Amino acid sequence: MVIFYGIRSKAQRSVQTTYNCPHCGKERSIAVVPVWKYAHLFWVPFFPLWKSYVCLCTECDEVVEKTIDMPITKEIKRQTSRLPWWTFSGLIIVALLVGWGVIQSKTRELSAQRDIKAKIENPQVGDVYQVRLDSCKYTLMRATAVRGDSIFVQFHEYYVDKGSDLPKLKRKRGSDYGTGKDFEDFYTREELLEMAGERTLLKIDR
Ligand SMILES: [Zn+2]
Repeated sequence: MVIFYGIRSKAQRSVQTTYNCPHCGKERSIAVVPVWKYAHLFWVPFFPLWKSYVCLCTECDEVVEKTIDMPITKEIKRQTSRLPWWTFSGLIIVALLVGWGVIQSKTRELSAQRDIKAKIENPQVGDVYQVRLDSCKYTLMRATAVRGDSIFVQFHEYYVDKGSDLPKLKRKRGSDYGTGKDFEDFYTREELLEMAGERTLLKIDR
């Protein structure tokens, strides 16, 4: 991809001065135009770089050199000191996009938590729990029975290194659950909720 970036400039509103034009002789006709240089990415201004001044006659449109007779005074600098907000447009857009992304991911996380909670409150035989045993050991367990407050589960025979591989494990080896006491356990709803809070129970597929 070609990336267009660089420096562009844009003139701001001029300030009238008391200087006379050396070209046409018109009195008090010189205006000072502040010109902002800014960094752009694909022509979107990202941040301001520096400001320069152009002296221009409002009568004959001639550009006049800045001289000792026609200095950029403190007063002119004060009147043109405001930093135009649009020079930050790109940064503002980036900040908005990042903010939007954060909100999206928080919303997704909250709705995922709500989903887990609802399924734990009302467990069903056949629910498949995605669990994290430690930082690089993930597996599945499925609900085999619900008795009172206890949810009986059976662990999958295999582990994967990443939580994101669990759906694949479920898809490819969906029936390879371990048999025997070593693979069986039971939890109360409260324990499962705690696991969800600690992010050791990641998701429940129903
Ligand atoms: Zn002039």
